[in-house]
Amino acid sequence: MDQKVTIVSRLEWSAASPRNREALGGPAQRVIIHHTALANYTNQRQCMDHLLSIQRLHMKDRGFDDIGYNFLVGADGTVYEGRGWGVVGAHTKGYNHDSLGIAFMGNFNNDAPSKEAISSVKQLLQSGVFQGFLQSEFDLFGHRDLGNTECPGKKLYIALSQLRTTG
Ligand SMILES: [Zn+2]
Repeated sequence: MDQKVTIVSRLEWSAASPRNREALGGPAQRVIIHHTALANYTNQRQCMDHLLSIQRLHMKDRGFDDIGYNFLVGADGTVYEGRGWGVVGAHTKGYNHDSLGIAFMGNFNNDAPSKEAISSVKQLLQSGVFQGFLQSEFDLFGHRDLGNTECPGKKLYIALSQLRTTG
């Protein structure tokens, strides 16, 4: 790995404190990819506003303890800390307790994910395995593989094979 992934912390994007946090029982067995299904933002300022509105939506309207995803990624390849490593998310009904949920910020029904976002998520996954938060033989799914949803969008779903290859 010649490049380290940049993770913008919760503190940096001014996240509200979670109501509750539940630790995963061990390294995650699955990675589940989502999209936020909203506009495709590129710069960090827009992404941070977007994060705050997603967190509000998840906590106020849906009654989640926190933003649902473990991590989110912007089109410029910046990764944002959601619930973070080792925490049970709220993103895929029935699969949250052994999974890591990662959301690409944008709507990928028509737009393809950027090379930068794909590359950052690959690095994030490698780093998760290295740190022991993710099993080395993890399975990677799109949300639609496990639930009745279009998520993560047709174009991102097609691109998931790029995340399954190592190196
Ligand atoms: Zn989803």
